[in-house]
Amino acid sequence: MYTITLVPGDGIGPEVTEATCKVIAAAGVNIRWERFEEVGYAGIEKQGQPLPDEVLNSIHRNRLALKGPVTTPVGGGFRSVNVSLRQKLDLFVNLRPCKRLPGIKTPFPDTDLVIFRENTEGLYSGIESYDERLEIADSIARITRRGSQRILRYAFEWVTANQRRRLTAVHKANVLKLSTGLFLEEARSIAQDYPGVQFDHLIVDNMAMQLVIQPDTFDCIVTTNLFGDILSDLCAGLVGGLGIVPGANIGEDAAVFEAVHGSAPDIAGQSKANPTALIRTSALLLHHMGEAEAAMRIERAVWRAYAEGTSLTPDVGGTASTEGMTDEIVRLVTDHCA
Ligand code: ATP
Repeated sequence: MYTITLVPGDGIGPEVTEATCKVIAAAGVNIRWERFEEVGYAGIEKQGQPLPDEVLNSIHRNRLALKGPVTTPVGGGFRSVNVSLRQKLDLFVNLRPCKRLPGIKTPFPDTDLVIFRENTEGLYSGIESYDERLEIADSIARITRRGSQRILRYAFEWVTANQRRRLTAVHKANVLKLSTGLFLEEARSIAQDYPGVQFDHLIVDNMAMQLVIQPDTFDCIVTTNLFGDILSDLCAGLVGGLGIVPGANIGEDAAVFEAVHGSAPDIAGQSKANPTALIRTSALLLHHMGEAEAAMRIERAVWRAYAEGTSLTPDVGGTASTEGMTDEIVRLVTDHCA
């Protein structure tokens, strides 16, 4: 029996989280969930803070969390809970595999990308100020040598361990010469320790264009925080949208598993949310826990649900509800067990 922290989040979070817990249970992994509803706006309302200490303490204790999306107010308001969690737990790797599922129509069916996004610094460092008198706003893009080294090292190690072929570092070192220049310098230096990995680098604007024209020529991508945030949504779009792409935030002492998508308030509470992204995220979680067989069972069930195509949510061309799609994936997970 494992104990794992569960943050259902808000918007479509509770719907996709419930679906995912059902699928994990069907795969036969016994988990006691430490559940925290009062996060984000609910945390402010009930406890006066968006990320209560008890949530952080629980993740510190369990070292693992499954998390739904938490809405971040635009402009003012409280600081992003997602960003705070990553920084407070030092979850420096954001891993986002983007692979098409059967039946999803895209111009590039062979696209199979893995993005490693630095998760704790860059423009999301939280170093911001506003000078009232001069009416100037600053957001500092702090990049450190240690921060660059550890995400790059992780990416090279992962590419090697998973028998992938190529790693592309993405930067803007022609303009942001010092900050992303430091990242590029470290990438070039660490690449020399991995002669088996085909290493190259591209400027982010060129990368965005290349990903739209020929995404299937790329393999793994490592980049700084803001570029990784934007490029991973782009890559999600290439393989069928935010509803299907999983994600993981990994540090030395803890890991928080969450889908790439946000709280999608436009479809919340309507049973239209696609649970696939968080269900695939749970497969990443199970792999991380060493439950490889259960993870594979879930991945295969999702694959089969898409191949059959009869129980898909509207964002991927179907008419099923969140529950309908979940029930079908649960059936396929169980069917595979038989
Ligand atoms: P955030 O700023 O919190 O990351 P975002 O701006 O990236 O959020 P999302 O909340 O992820 O936006 O949603 C973007 C669009 O994608 C929405 O219009 C939403 O309907 C759609 N979408 C996101 N996730 C899903 C999902 N799981 N199922 C179906 N549609 C989704």
